[in-house]
Amino acid sequence: MKTPDNADSINYRDLSEEQWRAMLNPEEYAVLRQAGTEAPGTGEYVNTTTTGVYRCRACDAELFRSQEKFQAHCGWPAFFSPLAADSVITREDRSLSRVRTEVLCANCHSHLGHVFEGEGYDTPTDLRYCINSICLTLEPTTDN
Ligand SMILES: [Zn+2]
Repeated sequence: MKTPDNADSINYRDLSEEQWRAMLNPEEYAVLRQAGTEAPGTGEYVNTTTTGVYRCRACDAELFRSQEKFQAHCGWPAFFSPLAADSVITREDRSLSRVRTEVLCANCHSHLGHVFEGEGYDTPTDLRYCINSICLTLEPTTDN
């Protein structure tokens, strides 16, 4: 994305869809702002194990860490927990025949993916935050 010069002072939740279209490329816009889903297995972070912090591609907020990323073999990056409890917000999504829980960036309210629970993954939370790669930017860190 093209970050505006005054990025620190932006209230991302006040941006118009026109402004979002100017900041994001069409593929990013379709997922982040129109709740699209990238095709399984195609995202750049599906199998990434690099240590680092995953930021929101729309607003740069820190959302997830590599420490909570796990291999769910579902075709998208999976995390068992967000970076902090208030990093993301969730809401009910009835767009398909079953009720799902949508995950949104708490800072800019852009769509990130969905969270599923009780699937039996061997993780501390039994939650799977199923997040589109295109919604994230990995910032590698050297410490663990
Ligand atoms: Zn965001």
